[in-house]
Amino acid sequence: MKFSDLALIEPIQTAIAEAGYTEPTPIQQAAIPTLLEGRDLLGCAQTGTGKTAAFALPILQRLAQNPRRPEPRHARVLVLAPTRELAIQIHDSFRAYGKHLRFKTAVVFGGVGQAPQVKALSSGVEVLIATPGRLLDLINQKYLRLSGLEVFVLDEADRMLDMGFIHDIRKVIAMLPAKRHNLFFSATMPPDIRKLADSILTEPAYVEVAPVSSTAELIEQSVMYVEKNRKKELLRHVLKNPALKRVIVFTRTKRGANQVSEVLEKSGVVSEAIHGNKSQSARQKALENFRAGRTRVLVATDIAARGIDIDGITHVINFEVPNISESYVHRIGRTARAGAPGAAISFCDAEERSFIKDIEKLIAQPIPVDRTQPYHSNEVENSRLLSKGKAKAAIEGRQGGGGNRNRRGGRPQPGGQRGAKAGNSANSGGGGRPQQKPQQKSQHGGGKPGPAPSGGSAGSRPQPRR
Ligand code: AMP
Repeated sequence: MKFSDLALIEPIQTAIAEAGYTEPTPIQQAAIPTLLEGRDLLGCAQTGTGKTAAFALPILQRLAQNPRRPEPRHARVLVLAPTRELAIQIHDSFRAYGKHLRFKTAVVFGGVGQAPQVKALSSGVEVLIATPGRLLDLINQKYLRLSGLEVFVLDEADRMLDMGFIHDIRKVIAMLPAKRHNLFFSATMPPDIRKLADSILTEPAYVEVAPVSSTAELIEQSVMYVEKNRKKELLRHVLKNPALKRVIVFTRTKRGANQVSEVLEKSGVVSEAIHGNKSQSARQKALENFRAGRTRVLVATDIAARGIDIDGITHVINFEVPNISESYVHRIGRTARAGAPGAAISFCDAEERSFIKDIEKLIAQPIPVDRTQPYHSNEVENSRLLSKGKAKAAIEGRQGGGGNRNRRGGRPQPGGQRGAKAGNSANSGGGGRPQQKPQQKSQHGGGKPGPAPSGGSAGSRPQPRR
């Protein structure tokens, strides 16, 4: 199928061609016709499948076909995303795909001054991308109203719940007009997500692509058994191989990320750490350096890395094995994008062995062991398998309570828990990987990541009405 087979208008077709896309990905093939009809959609797909364009293109088309100036402090479309990085990326995509159309967009997220965001919203926008916390802040201050909303998109719903946004989401939903077009995306569909989806959607079409467990099959994976206190040496050793050109190293905690980055810097490897304690501008800068190839190794925690869409990552290294199996799949999915080869190496100590077993169950394949590396430990490989609870407790004890723990201990595993399929289904098994990404940068005041402008806007803030 070609994009020209989809009933997309010319300005959108041109933008797609300029982005270098020739064929729609499976989720785009399935979702675009449905969304053009205005039908609600439940999409089970993760980042990397082309899902942003799958919803952005038909939304843009419907806006273009029903032109209407948004009222001041109103938006016609709201996309809720869990992280700032993802929000910025979605915003960039809307701008790239809509570059030949006339409409206003804004992106709002926390951790930066709100004044430019307030300004961007003041005359109204067609499309608003937001993280939940800042969105509610702005609504509470009457800088924004959702009463005129026509389209509501909830992206990465499972991650939203993981990050504790459920109450914020409920608050937002309660403010939406009853008649609206709803889109709901999640990488996994455990029962709590399904319930949330049911509370938002009306007779949705269901689209499912590349189940989370199959994505892993595309990546060359290995596990290295190593004593806990030798992981840093192992990392230095592994990075001697120049084939590891652009690498993300995952740690479980923010402190761990800083430590690993320091060790690497000391041994002459250019690296930077990103995690929730870094300012938004520091995170953006680190990502830019990494994207531009100035930094070889990005050290990241799970949450910070969510939504990072950087092509050409050759290797993902799990310095610590995640205790939530799905995080493993999300982590390694940072590599092997856009059809490129990719490898994922996991450093596993004795306490983490049960996590590897769990991951192998989820991805339904064993992860090959690399016994050729000089720090290989037979003792670790053959050590007694701790129960998952004990292993988790051992690790959390080690973190001294200061870690970056997930709020919900063990998430339901996605494998057998998918909801029944209905409507349009596009189970691709991972085919049709996207090839290229739009590069247009955010130009709206609201989208400029950076330090909070001094002085803020408190003085000019309207008083909340009672
Ligand atoms: P997403 O899943 O929306 O994060 O998209 C993943 C990547 O695929 C992004 O870099 C997009 O720019 C790119 N992409 C989306 N659709 C296509 C397509 N049809 N062909 C090639 N690349 C695409």
